[in-house]
Amino acid sequence: MDAFTLVVAAALAALTMAASMGLLYLASARQACLVDWTVAAVFFALSNMMGAIGLHLQTNPIVFIACVNALQLGGHFGMLAGVRRHLHRAPGWRWGAVLVGTVLAAHVLLALRGAPLYRLMLFTPFLGAINLCAAWLLWRQPDSEARASYLPLIVLQVLFALQQAVRVAVVVAHDGEPPGFLGGHFYRTSGALAMLVYLSLATMCCALIVTHQQTLALHRASLTDVLTGWLNRRALHDIATRDFRRCRRTGAAMFFIAFDIDHFKSINDRYGHGVGDTAIRHVTALSARMLRGYDALFRLGGEEFAVLVCGEHLGSVCGIAERLREWVACTPLIVDGAGVAMTVSVGVAALDPQDHKWEDILRRADEALYDAKQRGRNRVSVHGRDLAGRGHATRLQAAVA
Ligand code: GH3
Ligand code: MG
Ligand code: MG
Repeated sequence: MDAFTLVVAAALAALTMAASMGLLYLASARQACLVDWTVAAVFFALSNMMGAIGLHLQTNPIVFIACVNALQLGGHFGMLAGVRRHLHRAPGWRWGAVLVGTVLAAHVLLALRGAPLYRLMLFTPFLGAINLCAAWLLWRQPDSEARASYLPLIVLQVLFALQQAVRVAVVVAHDGEPPGFLGGHFYRTSGALAMLVYLSLATMCCALIVTHQQTLALHRASLTDVLTGWLNRRALHDIATRDFRRCRRTGAAMFFIAFDIDHFKSINDRYGHGVGDTAIRHVTALSARMLRGYDALFRLGGEEFAVLVCGEHLGSVCGIAERLREWVACTPLIVDGAGVAMTVSVGVAALDPQDHKWEDILRRADEALYDAKQRGRNRVSVHGRDLAGRGHATRLQAAVA
């Protein structure tokens, strides 16, 4: 294919990318990075259209070249801006405008020399830096689930930067002339070919990132309680089943700390359901702060919660439970400037060698919680220590000893 056809094809690929990103944004306006990627694609399309017009007219005034290069750089910056926005950073379009302005201005100076090689040598490092910066930001993400969807774009950005560097190196090695190998024709068309491939793949990579993120968000929402942000029963089933199997296999200890707000109905009755919700959030926020480092926090329903702890000793788990109780008791909820005292009752139970499923441990933690309620509330009950229940007591005590 000749250079003109390839540049037209690249312009069409850019328009396809702009349409895809724009339509995806219309379908899901939460993904604002799609706007940046749409703008990037429009820049790429304009740059390639101008390039095609230049080739068709066989004229290359410097203003034309300046616009093509500035739009090209703006397109790559748009890709970076989208990545930054996706990662909850400011997209930094202001810097993009400065960069594009600088590129335009630079052509005035370069026009004096009129050598394409100088332009290539000046702009390629900028392009490479922008592409590699986007790849680096995506690579550094700690969220391993999301990172799987970043890999294609990371690879694409790195490969594009590499091919740009190779193109410059090849021309420099040939004293500023397009190389003879494979014919100068190949060199002249390879840039447009690389752009065409880049744009086609970038469309898929960006679409993959946003659709994967939506799938992850839906999955996380299905496991999270809306009021408190804690995990729900569905998540409890998955996590507890996995941890139970692992603890049984490795012989590690596993505990449930179950707790329930005391006399919660009276808060609802006295202050209304809205304040009741605030009270639930107050207790979970306090508990989460206290339980920093433990991420298996579950809302079992209503104002009943559970914490799953693995690999600790009974003594330290009881210490956690006691501190949790104390912290809630010491930190009243403020309603209309006045403090409303709140307390929780807590039950603790450990994995027993006889257990066949994690539900056995949670049931015993519930029994211990019930015992704490019976004994006056605002206290911790440990199954097997404070609560000598159904034959588990002696076994647990033996295990603890
Ligand atoms: P106890 O000390 O024995 O636990 O007494 P209690 O009043 O706390 O009794 P219980 O634990 O049975 O109270 C549960 C109440 O919690 C009943 C229900 O109306 C209320 N509740 C359940 N879910 C919510 C919720 O999401 N928001 C609010 N505001 N109230 C809820
Ligand atoms: Mg209660
Ligand atoms: Mg309850």
